[in-house]
Amino acid sequence: MKKHNFSAGPSILPRIALENSAKAILDLNGIGLSLLEISHRSKDFQAVLDETVALFHELLNIPAGYQVIFLGGGASLQFCMIPYNFLNRKAAYLETGVWAQKAIKEAKFFGEVDVVASSGDRNFCYIPKGYSIPADADYFHITTNNTIYGSEIRYDIDSPVPLIADMSSDILSRPIDVSKYSMIYGGAQKNLGPAGVTFVILKEDMLGKAERKIPTMLNYATHTKEPSLYNTPPVFAIYTCLETLRWIKGLGGVKVIEAMNNAKAKLLYDAIDNSRMFVGTVDKDSRSIMNICFVMKEQYQDKEDAFMELAKTKGMIGIKGHRSVGGFRASTYNALPIESVQALVDAMQEFEKTNA
Ligand SMILES: *Cc1c(COP(=O)(O)O)cnc(C)c1O
Repeated sequence: MKKHNFSAGPSILPRIALENSAKAILDLNGIGLSLLEISHRSKDFQAVLDETVALFHELLNIPAGYQVIFLGGGASLQFCMIPYNFLNRKAAYLETGVWAQKAIKEAKFFGEVDVVASSGDRNFCYIPKGYSIPADADYFHITTNNTIYGSEIRYDIDSPVPLIADMSSDILSRPIDVSKYSMIYGGAQKNLGPAGVTFVILKEDMLGKAERKIPTMLNYATHTKEPSLYNTPPVFAIYTCLETLRWIKGLGGVKVIEAMNNAKAKLLYDAIDNSRMFVGTVDKDSRSIMNICFVMKEQYQDKEDAFMELAKTKGMIGIKGHRSVGGFRASTYNALPIESVQALVDAMQEFEKTNA
């Protein structure tokens, strides 16, 4: 049976990226060796790294003065590296969910943290507005897409201090104005590649400002000086990212991806909004186009398990909502085809016919 993979992460990747990665494991570009058994300093791997960086620059239209580097440790290690490198006195954070909270927790090890606004009063079902960013903060940190709660900041914020964004779950889902950010980072496993690599887009003027000593591996300067090659980078994960980037470029770039994402999200949100049974959990102006969260209306809540069973028989994977929200979460990342969203909508409508 065809599977419809709505997993929140690790999650669906373009089929062609998986196929080409499988080939590269056996024989990279016909060199007679596996991608996994050559030196990360060989010219063959350097070519992989160079093309991956170049495609990041091209697809996101990254201006001069930025470096793209690949690190290990997941987005979670960045929660610590960011304040280690950039928080001298005070940093500002926007609290929009669990990932933001984890970032805030790490920052508190290094200095004062000003949480400028939080949507925790309503279980993170909206993006706060009308807050002010302190001009004396070393930086302002946001999580653009809240993977667990399904809210998203789908615009580029104007910040008076360096803006740092965790884009783990919405990188390359829409065009962004990189010049408004001093750093963009994320784990690859939501929208880009396999777990094990973290991308960092760093504005070079952020370097050299730390007032503390930083251990070598945790210092961004180490990884920009010898770009992604201070130590052995996650070579396979980087290769699959390259294949995903090639796929995006082949489709026509991030604008095309955005249109596809908007169409998928509209299809599912319309079905939710027109349903007698299902209801969205996020305020309409804050809805994510990557993670679509919904529950059953109160009078039908005892039917959630039955819908889950029906969905399972139709090949739906990963639609159970996170335990902190309940209900359902359909992750509609870049690589998810609209046919899978249509299949979910059909299942919802079929279930509603017999149960509501
Ligand atoms: C998944 C996720 C993380 C954590 O990523 P790891 O690579 O597992 O550390 C951080 N931020 C967001 C927004 C995420 O979705």
